[in-house]
Amino acid sequence: MKSNFKEQTVIVTGGTRGIGRGISEEFLKAGAKVVATYQSNKKAAQDFYESNKEYSKCLELRSFDVTQYDEVGQFYQDMEKTHGEFQIMVHCSGIRIDSIVGMMREEDWRKVIDTNLTGTFNMCKFAVQNLMRKKYGRIIVITSPIGRLGFAGQSNYAASKAGQVAFVQSLSKEVASRKITVNCVSPGFIDTDFISGLPEEQKKKYIEMVPLKRFGLPLDVAHPVLFLASAEASYITGANLEVTGGL
Ligand code: NDP
Repeated sequence: MKSNFKEQTVIVTGGTRGIGRGISEEFLKAGAKVVATYQSNKKAAQDFYESNKEYSKCLELRSFDVTQYDEVGQFYQDMEKTHGEFQIMVHCSGIRIDSIVGMMREEDWRKVIDTNLTGTFNMCKFAVQNLMRKKYGRIIVITSPIGRLGFAGQSNYAASKAGQVAFVQSLSKEVASRKITVNCVSPGFIDTDFISGLPEEQKKKYIEMVPLKRFGLPLDVAHPVLFLASAEASYITGANLEVTGGL
């Protein structure tokens, strides 16, 4: 791949931890300026910053809640003031709160849908407003194959992730004429805080399900994200790239 990202600014939500951190770090290595956002885990954000001190001129951290429309709007206003332009937005923040439907608390249904789906609308709405003016842009939303497959105990998560794919497919058609591409990347089991709390027995069972017989690493997801963000991927839009070890 010829692309480097030297003149480009990238927003990565959930960019200080887990998969998002891997994505932020690969963009930094590829020469981009990175604005990595998080919600409230300052310690993880600080650890990430300290480990990437050599890139401190190209790295900025911002915290806000993606479910809050006004906070997201304010973030983009500040972005325009401080960076002027950005070309790429990777929306990686997300949560899961698992329970079977019969036992699921209404607030847990709402929280997951709000964070994963409404958060996607909020981040993408303000991003396209900005990118449409420049007639160029790359949006990548990190979703999950669970949206397609379903999973017992994850109906809220699955619904939010299926919604993200449908949202991206619609948005990609709205902005294609402005040379903005919008795609999804769907990771399988990736070794982050997201799954580290699972019992060892369950982890073993999940690894058995993966044809490549291992959990993925954040880097395994970051590489395809950088490809979709590159100039070389200009004819790919509305796609959902699964990165699952063959799951
Ligand atoms: P992590 O739990 O490691 O990180 C989640 C990130 O999202 C954190 O940076 C967190 O901020 C941020 N975040 C959560 N809620 C909000 C919010 N309301 N506002 C702003 N930021 C928020 O998750 P992963 O890296 O594992 O997952 C990232 C994405 O990948 C998610 O969308 C997930 O659904 C998806 N995915 C993950 C898989 C996996 O196996 N890990 C598999 C398939 C998909 P803070 O640090 O402040 O808490």
